[in-house]
Amino acid sequence: MRHSPAWSTPEAHLLRTRPDRAQLYIAPAVLQATARRFHAGFPGLVTYAVKANARDEVLTNLVAAGLDTFDVASVDEMQMIRRVCPGAVLHYNNPIRSKAEIAEAIRLGAYSWSVDDMAQLDKLAEVPAECEISVRFALPVRGAVYDFGKKFGATPDAAVELLKAVAASGRVPALCFHPGTQCTDPEAWTAYITEAARIADRAGVTIARLNVGGGFPSSRDGDDSGGDAGTCPPLEAIFDAIARATKTAFGDNAPALLCEPGRAMVAEAFTLVARIKALKHEGGTVFLNDGIYGGLSECRDLGLSGRVRVVSPEGQVRRATRTPRVVFGPTCDSLDRLPDGLPLPADAAEDDYVMFGAMGAYSIAIGTRFNGYGLDDVVTVQQLT
Ligand SMILES: *Cc1c(COP(=O)(O)O)cnc(C)c1O
Repeated sequence: MRHSPAWSTPEAHLLRTRPDRAQLYIAPAVLQATARRFHAGFPGLVTYAVKANARDEVLTNLVAAGLDTFDVASVDEMQMIRRVCPGAVLHYNNPIRSKAEIAEAIRLGAYSWSVDDMAQLDKLAEVPAECEISVRFALPVRGAVYDFGKKFGATPDAAVELLKAVAASGRVPALCFHPGTQCTDPEAWTAYITEAARIADRAGVTIARLNVGGGFPSSRDGDDSGGDAGTCPPLEAIFDAIARATKTAFGDNAPALLCEPGRAMVAEAFTLVARIKALKHEGGTVFLNDGIYGGLSECRDLGLSGRVRVVSPEGQVRRATRTPRVVFGPTCDSLDRLPDGLPLPADAAEDDYVMFGAMGAYSIAIGTRFNGYGLDDVVTVQQLT
């Protein structure tokens, strides 16, 4: 039985404790609801990409919500999963591995292994026959904010040869791809699934599974910012596109599907709160106690999220017209500046709290303690708004 969190909302904690360091809040109820949404809608096995957020609170709540398979990129991540869920299935989907990492992953019982290169496949000679080897391919498709295809993934021609080699090795053959993170275009999955069927057909191999990656987007559309709203399709629109494309491409011979969301699984469950340390130049420039070396590092690549609100230490929501501000983080590095100009209400004042919604992914995972700043403990709350 889990204890009910001590705090009802982030605001309740902020008003009572007035923290002067940046804070992250997690609502386990939101995380578990997201896991249920994936389970209800995705037409296959739902796994979690640990790298997006490897906090114990995240892993234990996902296990409680029924997840038992995890996408891991390193031996450390495997050990973390073994600690919270000893019987979990491990998918080792980082295709570049040292020999020592391979030996350790075999010892830890990794089941599925991705490959995108013949020399790396040769290094997997000791991987047991009952394991799955999943050939990762990449297409030059757009739709994601950044394109993992530039680093990992074989061309379709190379994938055909790799898939034949996997089948010949006696391991369970599979295909996988990752459309790139924060991918808002369902057609990206359609293009990949269509190509997967072609690759399997050309190789003459019946694949056991098709791993459609992560990349599912989390909404960055402004709720009360008045900023420009992006277009983030609901997860269900992507699930439907995946189901349809699989049926069209593979017909009755469809492989089992699996997905490995990181971002879309955890983003909504966290709010990041930074405090305004100072205002300069007649209130124009804002200095926060978190920035690009902390939980806000991703906004250099993804741009600003519209999901920002400002509250006073007394809990009053700042509602004045928003104007774009230059916002600096707390370190002494001039790079520590948010891109573009964050639209903040004109009445935002020193000591106010700036609340960034949907910040569970790649925040605490990437944040540093540069200059002695960073995110400390995560505070558990019942709900986030
Ligand atoms: C990072 C990664 C994921 C998760 O990506 P998200 O965009 O966070 O969903 C899934 N699979 C692989 C192979 C990855 O590298």
